[in-house]
Amino acid sequence: MLANLLKLFIEHPARAAGLLILLALVLEVVFLAASGVRRLLAGRRLSSLQAARLQMEIERARLEIKSAEEAKSAWNGIRKFSVDRKVQECDDTYSFYLKPHDGKPLPPFKPGQYLTFQLSIPGLGRPLVRCYSLSASADTSHYRVTVKRCLAPAGSGHPHGIGSAHFCDQVKVGDILDVKAPNGHFHLELERDRPVVLVSGGVGATPMIAMADALRKEGSLKREVWFFHGARNGRDHMFQSFMRSLDLEDKNFHVHVCYSKPLPTERKGIDYQHEGRVTVDLMKELLPSNNYGFFVCGPGPFMESITQDLRNWGVPDEWVHFEAFGPASVKRAAKPEAKVGVTFPPMGGLEITFAKSGRKITWQGGGRSLLEMAEEARVKIDAGCRAGNCGSCLVALKSGSIEYLGTHGADVEEGSCLACICRPATALVVDA
Ligand SMILES: Cc1cc2nc3c(=O)[nH]c(=O)nc-3n(C[C@H](O)[C@H](O)[C@H](O)COP(=O)(O)OP(=O)(O)OC[C@H]3O[C@@H](n4cnc5c(N)ncnc54)[C@H](O)[C@@H]3O)c2cc1C
Repeated sequence: MLANLLKLFIEHPARAAGLLILLALVLEVVFLAASGVRRLLAGRRLSSLQAARLQMEIERARLEIKSAEEAKSAWNGIRKFSVDRKVQECDDTYSFYLKPHDGKPLPPFKPGQYLTFQLSIPGLGRPLVRCYSLSASADTSHYRVTVKRCLAPAGSGHPHGIGSAHFCDQVKVGDILDVKAPNGHFHLELERDRPVVLVSGGVGATPMIAMADALRKEGSLKREVWFFHGARNGRDHMFQSFMRSLDLEDKNFHVHVCYSKPLPTERKGIDYQHEGRVTVDLMKELLPSNNYGFFVCGPGPFMESITQDLRNWGVPDEWVHFEAFGPASVKRAAKPEAKVGVTFPPMGGLEITFAKSGRKITWQGGGRSLLEMAEEARVKIDAGCRAGNCGSCLVALKSGSIEYLGTHGADVEEGSCLACICRPATALVVDA
């Protein structure tokens, strides 16, 4: 056995160290518990301080073991997943149930987080990176994402979205996909007990469904949940029966569905509750106060108007959490100004040169990212998550320096930057 342990230390030092820590913790708990029992048997009661310490130690060990288990199932880089089921949710929208190809357990995630896919699309010549929110609460055997086809605006002459079309038309049961681990800062903390309002438009329902699912499964401290969802009508209303079941089966859930163009056959009060769009005015009518944590997700203009109106209603910014599903090749909704510190460039602005495309712009300050500036100047920089996590927008800086608008998960090599989450600190020459 000693020889085996030695071998483990040489071949897998990190795993062996983890094992030893776990062993030490278990021994410590057993020792503490045994000494507690001895004292009780000796007719001496544990002081309340000792009892609390024992309780804390057991809880600490339990959490250590839990996070060691979770770390074991997490992964870096790409993991292969096979498509176990493909289910049509509504027009042009499909859910994909994904199983790890290695058959090992999956790490948990926070409801609201997303997966990053590296899609191999024939003829594209490079992997296409796209992010899709997990649309069901955590499960150790599979993940679910739901993809809506992203059509070009009528008459724009632009091609339809590539990644979403690939999912809807090409990806089938049995296919293997390259997937990065769950990520993202837009998520619900299940341990908290502040009542929540989930607000979504169109495909923005996906993270809300994961949140609602998790709240319901956990019986989440029985906190009050309001769910406002907007769709055109039943044809593009995803997870219709799930939303209805939330409202009917759980008295803590209040679900309000708004159809902007209901079909003649659809019944107000049954298929949907309100005609029109989801607005903060509707929330003001229905909610007893604005004292909630708000989670908002949907297309850019929807996000902008809801977050702005919540602020006008007096909801503090730190109670409003949001994720914009900008199509990956177009501009993402700007964050409300107060969320981004204002940088003042020198008088006359800073010159940003995009060397490969030969374009120049002058940056006059504000919270826009370098990626957004490039898009406005029609300079092509790849983008996936638009939150500094997937690494698709990594671009080399030929000169100058940048500052980050937030924390990022992707690695950045010296002399490069993640364009989606930074802005200029000096004049820049960018290799794009
Ligand atoms: C964190 C996060 C989570 C997400 N979760 C989901 C989710 O759960 N479900 C979901 O369906 N989506 C989700 N998205 C959006 C998703 O990642 C993709 O952005 C979306 O599927 C569109 O990608 P695409 O490749 O199909 O479209 P793209 O090829 O990126 O095209 C996007 C749009 O731009 C148009 N377009 C193409 N070329 C041009 C051009 N030259 N000029 C102007 N417009 C052009 C296209 O017609 C299309 O309408 C999420 C995004 C993020 C960032």
